[in-house]
Amino acid sequence: MTNTRSSNTHLKGTSPELIVDLGAVVDNYKILKALTSGALNSCECSGVVKANAYGMGKNRVAQALWEEGCKTFFVALASEGVELRFFLPQAKIFVLSPYLVLDCDLLKAHNLVPCLYDIEGIELWIAAHSSPAPAALHFETGINRLGLSARNMETLLSDKEKRGQLDIKLVMSHLSSGDEQQSRHNPEQLEAFKTIRAEFPDAPASLANTGGILLGTEYHFDLVRPGIGLYGHDPHYYENNHSRLKTVATFRAPLAQIKHLKAGSAVGYGATELGTDTEIGVILCGYADGVMRAFFRHETKEGHKVSLNGFSTPMLGRVSMDMITIDLTDVPSDAYNKGDMVEIFGPNSLVENAAAMAGTSAYELFTRVSDRTVRKYV
Ligand SMILES: *Cc1c(COP(=O)(O)O)cnc(C)c1O
Repeated sequence: MTNTRSSNTHLKGTSPELIVDLGAVVDNYKILKALTSGALNSCECSGVVKANAYGMGKNRVAQALWEEGCKTFFVALASEGVELRFFLPQAKIFVLSPYLVLDCDLLKAHNLVPCLYDIEGIELWIAAHSSPAPAALHFETGINRLGLSARNMETLLSDKEKRGQLDIKLVMSHLSSGDEQQSRHNPEQLEAFKTIRAEFPDAPASLANTGGILLGTEYHFDLVRPGIGLYGHDPHYYENNHSRLKTVATFRAPLAQIKHLKAGSAVGYGATELGTDTEIGVILCGYADGVMRAFFRHETKEGHKVSLNGFSTPMLGRVSMDMITIDLTDVPSDAYNKGDMVEIFGPNSLVENAAAMAGTSAYELFTRVSDRTVRKYV
């Protein structure tokens, strides 16, 4: 009945897991760094580890990058910077979304450099210092999120005293469309950024996220800020149908029950009806772990294809909080057993396909993997 020989070799587990390949993170760092530092080019490659390193675990990721020679890190919140500081006492840590009204003391106490985006924040940060205040200036060039406007820049340039009270560690901006190779917004933002950085000739300049790095050397300036690329998603994957980066994350969960259902039976909330006799596998992970409900379309019965011991097979039935169901009908019955781990996304079931099915991005899927899911490092 069961093929014990093959099932013994299968991966087993009791709860959902996110396997993080730190070697692949480091390899991706090397790949991106190699693109940005040539003989003619002395560009620094930082690491963006906001949102718990896109769900991968920022302390472990940052430690691995640090050991590889990465000295500069970006987080979103001051609180993330405080946590990271504990692990990396020597690193340069920039905070992308500081709230200076409340964060000044925390930033100062932990030697975190805020990316300042308005005059109020600049004034508060200066007021908190008796010597020039270390800061990045984040300029707006077209994404219209956090960023100093052209008007703010004029204010700053005309106010020599204020300018002198800042120790400008970085002049930066952010691309709206770095993931679209042909977007007109990229060259437009590039030109706008060149004009801005020319006003601050002594400060290092930074424009590129992962997408920007892959757009070409003219986007690199003095420092690049890759995030998603470190975690294995090539932002031009959909355009090139090919990834230049290594898979880092494997999200998998155990097969807990197998059942043979007759045609006309139903499965899951909303009772998705089965047209034919169907072998169903119940897997221990659900939307509370980050499996999006949009991975299964009840109306058309289309499901994201997961991978079980090398076999690709679709989800069938709505995603519950703690469970999903998959269609095992076309998987040979001696190829799996209870307790085997099913890959929701990873090297065999690409996160890009899962994201396309759910109408979202690899970014969202990575950061949605919840705390309940155990992180394991290889
Ligand atoms: C998140 C972020 C990055 C990293 O972007 P990726 O697309 O993940 O490489 C870089 N810069 C800023 C300002 C960001 O907010």
